[in-house]
Amino acid sequence: MYKFAGILTVALMTQVSTQWKIHDMDRPVPVAIDPGTASTNDAAGKPPADAVVLFDGASLDKWESGKGGPAKWNVANGYFEVVKGAGEIQTKQGFGDCQLHVEWAAPAPPQGEGQDRGNSGVFLMGLYEIQVLDSYQSRTYADGQASAVYGQSPPLVNASRPPGQWQTYDIVFHAPRFGADGAVTRPARVTVLHNGVLVQDNFELSGPTANQQRPPYKAHADKLPIHLQDHGHPVRFRNIWIRELK
Ligand code: MG
Repeated sequence: MYKFAGILTVALMTQVSTQWKIHDMDRPVPVAIDPGTASTNDAAGKPPADAVVLFDGASLDKWESGKGGPAKWNVANGYFEVVKGAGEIQTKQGFGDCQLHVEWAAPAPPQGEGQDRGNSGVFLMGLYEIQVLDSYQSRTYADGQASAVYGQSPPLVNASRPPGQWQTYDIVFHAPRFGADGAVTRPARVTVLHNGVLVQDNFELSGPTANQQRPPYKAHADKLPIHLQDHGHPVRFRNIWIRELK
């Protein structure tokens, strides 16, 4: 009886649909899309056809300042660059569950060490930071290096490229869910590929990311803007696109 219950539990836990027979020709086929092209160091690739393009190389019109008003970072040569003291920028649109593609390059030649070297960050929902940092031959605490879930999870490997070279983050994020009483019912989860290499594997966050602390979840909206951090370093970004997940 115990054994039977175990098998039953496993069956219930899989994601296989019971609605369709195996190899059922009546099952609707996925929508066909143009998947775009990969970037090279010299040129940004083309986003998938069904993506929302957040930066196409020309303008920051999908972004605004975290302080309100227009985003005041510099746009030039197909990228934009953090302007020290201008403050963080955020998307005008809110996002929850998503696939997010971001490309960035740390300043070259590098200046500073550790956290003081090419620091920025991609904040999902403005709360959950995937660290942007020049971690190429530069040491810092593991849970704060490039592609770390800041303060919570070091990357599985350090797949950093040298400063000045373009790097990619491909992020799959599932927002946390909250009950009617405000308690978290399902923590946020994130998968990250850094330069195509898996570095965060469906990691479950303990709450928002922060410096020196791990604050608990606080109930928030289903969709919130993505923030990019002004840490005082002229980090560059290009080719940013997002696909909302249903
Ligand atoms: Mg940062």
